[in-house]
Amino acid sequence: MKRTVIPEIKYKRLNPPERTLFGPDLSNSSPRARQGLIAILEGATDPDYLKVIEEARGLLRSLWKTANEDTFLVPGTEEAGMEAVLVNLLEPGETAVVATAGWYGDRLAEAVARMGAKVVKVEGEWGRPVSREAIEAAVSKHRPRVLLVIHGEASTGILQPLDGLSDIAHANGALLAVDACSTTALVDLKVDDWGIDACWSGSQKGLSAFPGLALVTFSPRAAQRFEQRKQPVSSYYFDLAGLRKFASDDRHHQTSPAPLIYALTEVLQLAYEQQMEYREGRHRNRRDALVAALETLGLKVLGEPAYRLPSVTVVEIPAGVDGSRVREKLLRPYRIDIGGGVGRWRDRVWRIGIMSHSAQPSFLIQFIAVLEALLAEEGYPIPRPGVAVRAAVAKLQP
Ligand SMILES: *Cc1c(COP(=O)(O)O)cnc(C)c1O
Repeated sequence: MKRTVIPEIKYKRLNPPERTLFGPDLSNSSPRARQGLIAILEGATDPDYLKVIEEARGLLRSLWKTANEDTFLVPGTEEAGMEAVLVNLLEPGETAVVATAGWYGDRLAEAVARMGAKVVKVEGEWGRPVSREAIEAAVSKHRPRVLLVIHGEASTGILQPLDGLSDIAHANGALLAVDACSTTALVDLKVDDWGIDACWSGSQKGLSAFPGLALVTFSPRAAQRFEQRKQPVSSYYFDLAGLRKFASDDRHHQTSPAPLIYALTEVLQLAYEQQMEYREGRHRNRRDALVAALETLGLKVLGEPAYRLPSVTVVEIPAGVDGSRVREKLLRPYRIDIGGGVGRWRDRVWRIGIMSHSAQPSFLIQFIAVLEALLAEEGYPIPRPGVAVRAAVAKLQP
């Protein structure tokens, strides 16, 4: 008989270092979220726990300004939210129009194609929103089942205006579905007033909870479309009927991740206390301070200024500067994590995400001071030492 020898395992205590998260995918967790991880009611079907889920769903409706009954917290990453929307609203062979002017839009088009739907891409120039006229032309020509739009294109730093898009969709028998991953809780999103039929986001960017929950909502119009399907939804996990079961008294569809739900509920309460006007203004101010510092250094911030995201700023790496080396030095020893480019802007830009709990004035000033010093090390000409910090300080509001 063969005997398996289990080797002795040598491990070190983990001791993870602290980081300043200034990338586009994740913000530092809020103390409220950390508190939520610890102080939980352990249970998946306990009536007192179910009340917490109900509270979180209500707070999410308030955040997104919607009365949609079909509003859910789905265990999984943001892409779980995307999948939930796509599999419920589209059947194989149906058409979807995807407006894209960046890497996330292209990825969304790819996901639609993989599920067997026909994709019509409306491609815009990177660094600008996709034109309303081009979207209208494609929707009236192809009369798709769904029009898909990215609200905040985090590869280019552009905010896509959404007003009026639902009129275009609805006039042509289509639903409007929106990726709100890099805007939720940072930019006002009026789901009902803007006629959005489905949207999705995550827990770890604009809300500063932990990755692992997708946020999704479906309008009554989207629900009606779901009822009229010819074929059942191929995904058991994301089937709207299953998500509803999870949100009713019959909870055996999934065992809910209580720590993540508690953490999210805490930060949804915080967002409710702060209100969107304050949150959006605060993020626009941090973005303006960052842009002032970068431009004072002579760096080029990309994207049409009127359409720049408050959450993610995309800046060109200057000629002669090694972009990866600067990012590595920011991380070690300074513990500041920023993003690189993706897609066709891969080696061309840095992406700086200043979101939610990461949007601390002290974090921002430290980053700008270190960036100036590292650029000088790269041989980049700094106009005068300290100018970047001074430009940011002049803009920052409390
Ligand atoms: C972050 C983000 C996503 C989700 O991407 P991850 O794979 O979870 O990083 C999707 N869309 C947009 C616009 C995003 O900013």
